Amino acid sequence: MTLALPMLLGAVFVGFLVPRALRAVSSTLSPTVLLAAWLGSMASALYLALSAVLVLVWPSHAPVEGLVDGIARCFSAFAHGTSSWVGELITGTAVGVVGLIAVRIVLAGRKQAREHARVREFHRDVLSIVARRDNSESDVLWLDHPLPMAYSVAGKPGFVVATQGLSSALTGGERDAVLAHERAHLSGGHHRIVGACEVLAAVLPGVPLFAAAPAAVGAIVELSADRHAARVTSPAAVRSALAVVSKSPLPQPDWSLGDRGGATAVRLRSLVDGDVASPRRLTCAVAACVPAAITTAVAAAVTVAVSAGICAVLT
Ligand SMILES: [Zn+2]
Repeated sequence: MTLALPMLLGAVFVGFLVPRALRAVSSTLSPTVLLAAWLGSMASALYLALSAVLVLVWPSHAPVEGLVDGIARCFSAFAHGTSSWVGELITGTAVGVVGLIAVRIVLAGRKQAREHARVREFHRDVLSIVARRDNSESDVLWLDHPLPMAYSVAGKPGFVVATQGLSSALTGGERDAVLAHERAHLSGGHHRIVGACEVLAAVLPGVPLFAAAPAAVGAIVELSADRHAARVTSPAAVRSALAVVSKSPLPQPDWSLGDRGGATAVRLRSLVDGDVASPRRLTCAVAACVPAAITTAVAAAVTVAVSAGICAVLT
C-alpha cells in the first residue's frame, strides 16, 4: 500500500491541479506542445490510478515494495499495524471504482463511435447528391453556396466540405490556407482526440482535468491547424482567410475555420506573435511527461512527510 498511496495521490493531483497550471502557461507554449501536455497529463492520471490498483491487488505488493518500504518504513509499520480489513476495504474500493470507470469509458466510447459513424454516413449520403468533386482536389466536396464556409469530416478516408463562396470570397492563397487548415484536422486525428476527451469528460465530469479537456483541447487543435496552414501557405494568408470566414453568417459546424466561442481574436494573435515552426518531438515528449512527473513527485513527498509525522507520533 505504501507504493499505491502516492500513485493514487499523484493521480488526484494531476486531475485537479494540472488544468490550472496548463492554463497559466498556455499563452507561452506552442499549440502542439500544449496539446502534448494535456494528453500526457490525462494519460498519466489514468495510468497512475490503474497502476495503483494493480499494486494493491498484486501478491506481496509488487517487486519495488521493498524500496518504497525503505523510504516510508514508518508509514508501512503503521499500516501493517492496523486491522487487515482496512487495507482490504481500500483495495476493494479502489478496484471497484477503477473497474466501474473503465466499463463506463468503454460503453461511452462505443456509443460515441456509433453516433459519429451515423453522422458521417448522413454527410456522405447527402453530399453525394448535392456536392460535386473537383478532379484536382479529390478530398474536397464543393457545395454551390455563395457564402464562404469549410469544415472537415473524419473517416476512412476523411474529407473536406467547402462552399463555392470560399473560392469567390477569398484569394487563391487564402482558399488554400482554409483547405490546409481542414486537412490538418484530418491528418492530425483531431476529431478522434477531441472525441476521446469528450468521452472522458462524460465519464469523469468531477475531475477538472477531464471536464476542461474538450474545450481546452478543442481550442488548441484549432491553433495547431492554423499553424500547419501557415506553414503550408503563410501566416498572412491564414490571418486574412480567418478574418473573412469568421464574419460569414452561416452556422459554423465543428472543425470549420469560423469564430466559434469568440476564439478568432486568440487565433489571429497567435499567428502574429507566435513562431509557426513545428516544435521538436523531444520537446513534445517532455511536455507530455513533466506535469504528471512534478505532481507525482509532490505526491510522493507528501506521503513521506505524512509517514514522518506518523513516525513522530508513534515514537
Ligand atoms: Zn478548424
